[in-house]
Amino acid sequence: MPRTSYAIAIGSNRPGRHGGPRREVLAAIAALEGVSAVSPILLTPPLGPSKRRFANAVALVESDDEPPALLRRLKAIERSFGRRRGQNWAARVIDLDIVLWSGGSWGEPGLTVPHRLFRTRGFVLAPLLRVAPEWRDPITGLNIRQLHARLTRRKPASRGRAGVGP
Ligand code: AMP
Repeated sequence: MPRTSYAIAIGSNRPGRHGGPRREVLAAIAALEGVSAVSPILLTPPLGPSKRRFANAVALVESDDEPPALLRRLKAIERSFGRRRGQNWAARVIDLDIVLWSGGSWGEPGLTVPHRLFRTRGFVLAPLLRVAPEWRDPITGLNIRQLHARLTRRKPASRGRAGVGP
């Protein structure tokens, strides 16, 4: 029985050899070992200069690997999907990130767990909410439901310039 579980974010916004972004995400999930739950695949608008829509999902994975070993496996999958190094924010066939680890946090050059940006990324929190709403972020102490609510909460509408009265 694996001792730890991970939440892995999966994203694609470019067709590859499996088909469109949705099919690439499905193929990446199939390539992961120890998958115990998969969120729905959500289509989200592009972030950064790329014009293409992203397909995003989160998978829960059971594994005894520590984060560096799991990251090596994820990078091998990315390479096998035709992802090239240095393709940040560009159209990408597949992107695999470690979001959370039940073992807590991990920090070393080139690898930070929890993922340092996941709390501000709706395209990670929305699918994560579907598979692990109660998972608690070890850094903020908030669970996914709370982090998602914090991100999506509407800002109050502007009531005009402060301090200007009748
Ligand atoms: P990107 O492809 O833009 O998501 O960035 C990938 C790089 O971020 C990888 O080569 C990792 O070295 C680094 N990185 C840092 N923390 C993480 C993490 N939690 N999951 C995946 N990659 C990470």
